[in-house]
Amino acid sequence: MQYQSPASIDEAVAALASIGGARILAGGTDLLVQLRSGAASPAAVIDIKNIDAMRAITETGEGFRIGAAACGAEITDHAALVRAWPGVAEAAGLIGSTQVQGRASLGGNVCNASPAADTTPALIAARAVAEIVGPNGRRAIPVEQIATGPGKTSLAPGEIVVSFLLPKPAGRAADAYLRLIPRTEMDIAVAGAAVNLTLNTDGTIADARVAIGAVAPTALVLDAAPGILAGNRPDEAILAKLADAASALAMPIDDKRGTTDYRRKVVGVLAKRAALIAYERAGAR
Ligand SMILES: Cc1cc2nc3c(=O)[nH]c(=O)nc-3n(C[C@H](O)[C@H](O)[C@H](O)COP(=O)(O)OP(=O)(O)OC[C@H]3O[C@@H](n4cnc5c(N)ncnc54)[C@H](O)[C@@H]3O)c2cc1C
Repeated sequence: MQYQSPASIDEAVAALASIGGARILAGGTDLLVQLRSGAASPAAVIDIKNIDAMRAITETGEGFRIGAAACGAEITDHAALVRAWPGVAEAAGLIGSTQVQGRASLGGNVCNASPAADTTPALIAARAVAEIVGPNGRRAIPVEQIATGPGKTSLAPGEIVVSFLLPKPAGRAADAYLRLIPRTEMDIAVAGAAVNLTLNTDGTIADARVAIGAVAPTALVLDAAPGILAGNRPDEAILAKLADAASALAMPIDDKRGTTDYRRKVVGVLAKRAALIAYERAGAR
C-alpha cells in the first residue's frame, strides 16, 4: 500500500484520481481500524492532514469555514466558533477520548458515513454546507446530501470534502446537540438529536431546524420541526409534540445497544432536551 502526503488540495485531488482504489486518510481513527480489520485494503492512502488549508478554521463575513481535516480539539479550542455554534462544537468534542480528539476530523466523521456520527446531525441542524473538490472542479452541497447509507457517500470518485461552511447565527439563535451512549464515554450514539433555534424578540421561536442521528441509515432532518415550534415557546405540550415527531421519523435498528422501541423513545427525549438547551442559549443572546 502506498502512502502519499500531498502539500496542497490540488495535489491531493491529483493523487486520489491517479491511483485507482486510493482512499483519503485524515485522522485515521476510522480508516486505520478498517485497515487493521481487513474491512478496507486500499492501494494507497492520501494523507490530507499536512495540507494547511484543510486544517484551518476561519471566521468570514458570512460565518465560519472549517477545514475538513481540522480535528475535534482544534474545533473545541476555537473560542469564536464555540460561541457561535455551541452545538456543533459539543458534537465534535464528544468524539472519542482526548487522544482521539487530537486526530479525528470533521470531514472523516461525515465521510465515514456512520449513521451514529456525532457531528453530522449537528452540522445538518446548523445548515452547514460542504465544499467539495474533485477532478471535475469544485461544488458545494448541504451536509445532509453526503451520507447516502451506512459507509456510503454521494462523493464521486476522486472527490474530497475540503471544508464545511457554517453560516453566521442570526441574532438570537443557538444550537445544541445531545446523544445517548450506554457508557459514560468512548461509545457511539444509540440516538442523537441536534436543534438549532432562532427566537423572535418576544421569546417565541421564529425558526427551527432539527436533525436526528443513529436512528436510521443516515441522519435525518425533522421537517415537521418548524411547524411545531415556530410561533411558540417550548412549553411541555410543544415539546411533547416535538418528541413525538422525532420518534415517528426514526427508523432505528434493533441491536445489543438498544431495541427499536428504546431508540425511538430516546431520540424524542433527546430532541426535547436539546430544544430546551438551544432555547436557553438563544435567549441569553
Ligand atoms: C476509540 C474511538 C472512539 C470513537 N468515538 C466516536 C464518537 O464518540 N462519535 C463519533 O461520531 N465517532 C467516533 N469514533 C469514530 C471516529 O473517530 C470519527 O468518525 C472521526 O471523526 C473520523 O475522523 P478521521 O479524521 O479519523 O477519519 P479517517 O479515519 O481518516 O477517515 C474516515 C473515512 O472518511 C474518508 N475521509 C476522511 N476525510 C475525508 C475528506 N475530507 N473527504 C473525503 N473523504 C474523507 C476516509 O477515506 C475514510 O473512508 C471513534 C473512533 C475511535 C477509534
